[in-house]
Formats: sequence, structure tokens, C-alpha cells
Amino acid sequence: MGARSTPERIACSDPGASYRAHRGEIDGAIARVLASGWYLLGREVAALEEEFARYCETSHAVCVGSGTDALELALRAAGITAGSRVFTVSHTAVATTTAIIRTGATPVFVDIDPATYTMDPDLLERTLVQFAACERDAVVPVHLYGQPAEMGRICALASGCGATVVEDCAQAHGARLEGRRAGSMGAAGAFSFYPTKNLGALGDGGAVVTDSGELAERLRMLAQYGWDSHRSSQVVGSNSRLDELQAAVVRVKLRHLDEANSARRRIAQTYDAALECTPAAVPTLRAGADHVFHQYVVRVPGRDALRAFLAANGTDCLVHYPLPVHLQPAFSAAPAGVGGLARSEEAARGVLSLPMFPELPIESAARVAGLVVSGTGLDAE
Ligand SMILES: *Cc1c(COP(=O)(O)O)cnc(C)c1O
Repeated sequence: MGARSTPERIACSDPGASYRAHRGEIDGAIARVLASGWYLLGREVAALEEEFARYCETSHAVCVGSGTDALELALRAAGITAGSRVFTVSHTAVATTTAIIRTGATPVFVDIDPATYTMDPDLLERTLVQFAACERDAVVPVHLYGQPAEMGRICALASGCGATVVEDCAQAHGARLEGRRAGSMGAAGAFSFYPTKNLGALGDGGAVVTDSGELAERLRMLAQYGWDSHRSSQVVGSNSRLDELQAAVVRVKLRHLDEANSARRRIAQTYDAALECTPAAVPTLRAGADHVFHQYVVRVPGRDALRAFLAANGTDCLVHYPLPVHLQPAFSAAPAGVGGLARSEEAARGVLSLPMFPELPIESAARVAGLVVSGTGLDAE
């Protein structure tokens, strides 16, 4: 390997590349907000709420301070509180569980379908029966890595016992299942605008989408001190607002979201084609789903050795997630659903997220795939 041809390191994600790709529009949007003299609860947030609701094919969107807040406030607006149980998964970002616990509810972890890494509806069904779930409870499926969970069955099971469904859409902006947008299938959908997400701000942010005007109203109240229109606090709220600067940036990115998701799909196809005949299991697509590849996750024996091999060859990969939520000290008291959580633990040992961001050149993706081919080969020798 001659020094002259040493290629650049390939990062797992690169929010800076997204800024550079739309620099003119983003700089213009930021300048517009700075000059306006209006930095919170103004035209940018109102416009983003309208545009994002339209994009998600819902009646309302309410912007908040983060994806974690979006989940917590959506659950609270739906009446979830101390004494409620919230059925979710353990193979997810810890924020899903944090948000649930902050409402006062108890999370109950349901194991995943090992092929798609999303909540197993059969296990959910048996768990809802075992816990005698009712209208005080909720189900939070996570559209992990950008692929919708099996929402048809999950929503039917929840409605059978009166439980509310809040979708964790933090990784699934623009995904669809049988034509329906992520966020439009449950009572509400919670999104994050963390910089590396499919739709990312230049800082923290989030939003909740819903068809319920009542739920949207309660959410607005909870997000701002519990105020009603007379600035009298009706409930104990918090301060969770998206600022005008971030809203203006997200509006720019929203205009490019579909093309960014298409770029992610092209990279996924490059990986799929190259890894077909290797020991690395490529993502399984659910029938009727439009996966938006927040992450491209392979599953491979000897994952840590492969990750080290890739790192030694200039490619940085991450593991989403190395430790299931139920094995983390803060959450060890949360009960497991029927069947336990062996599949979540197994997934955590084998998954590896390959570099994935819209601006990743196809040649770089091909190079990464080539490294995975030789890396998995090494492991077999
Ligand atoms: C990122 C993420 C969150 C939390 O979003 P923040 O904006 O970081 O608070 C919640 N759930 C999932 C699945 C996520 O990936």
C-alpha cells in the first residue's frame, strides 16, 4: 500500500457532509432567522410543523426539544402515567426506555423478531395477555434502523385491549409500510432531529405527529410549562421547544429528505449485492415496507474481529446496540415479556452497522463491502 494511494478514512456517519451538500440553503436559512430577531416559537417552527405533518401524512406535528422528549410528551399527552405499563423492546436506543420511565410508567420489554430486529407481534400478543394490558397502557414499537415494525398486527393487538400505540420513529423519517408513513399508523409518532438521523438538525430537536387535534393540543401544553392559552398552567409541563434556527435548518433538510433516503437505499443495494454470499447476514426487508436505512446492519459471527479489521483498514463502524437496555443497571428492574429476551441479547452480540450516510460515495461503499468480504473470510480461516 503506497502512501500516495492511501485512501481517506470512511466514517460511520457524517452530518458535516449533509451540511456541505446544502450549505447555501442552510446558511441562507440561518441568516434569515438571525436577521428576523425572533428566535423561539415563530414562523419557522410553525412552517416546519405544517410541512412535516404534510410529509408524514398526518393532521398535526408539534416540534419539541429532542426525540426523547417527543416520546415522553406523546405518551404523557396520551394519558400514560404512574401505574401504566408501556410494552416496548430492549434492542433499541436507551432513550426509548428513558422516555417511558420519565412518564412514571413501567416499561415491559418484548423480544424482537430476529430477522428484522423489530418487536415480535406473537410475543407482544402473549405478553399483553399475561400482563392483562388495558386502556391505561401503551405499546411503543421502534422502527429500528429505518424499517417499520409490523404495525398492522401491533396496532390490532393494542386496540384489542385499548392500549395506545406511540411509534418510535427516531430512525424512520420517510419510511412507509403498505403505503403508510412511519408516524401515521399509531395514535402518535415521535421523531428525533439529532444530527445523524435521516432528518437531522445542527443540534437537538424532535417532533410528534398525530391525527388527533386533542393530543396535539395537550402536547403543546406539556411542552411549554403546562400553559393554556391564558398562560395559566393546567398541568405540570416542561420546557421542550425547538428553536427557530434548528427549525429553519430542518426545513431545508426536509426538502431533500426523499433524495437522501434514495441515496441511502442505493448504498444499501451496493452492500447487499457485494455481501450476498458471505457469512454476513444482510438486512431482511419486511414485505410492503419502504426501509430508509438509517443504519445498514449486518449480523456476523466474530463481529468484534471484523470491526477491528475494518478499523485497521480505515473504516469506522459502530454497534447499535452493544448492550440491550434490560442489561443496563438503570433498567434492570423492568420486567421482560413472555419468552424472555434471549433474541435481543443474541442480536447485541452479532450486529455491526456499516458506514451509511447519503453523501457516502458508492465507490467508498464498494470498498467497505470488499473489506467485509475479506474480513469475514479471515474469520473463517
Ligand atoms: C435517537 C433515538 C431516540 C432519541 O432521540 P434524541 O433526539 O437523541 O433524544 C429515541 N429512540 C431511538 C430509536 C433513537 O434512535
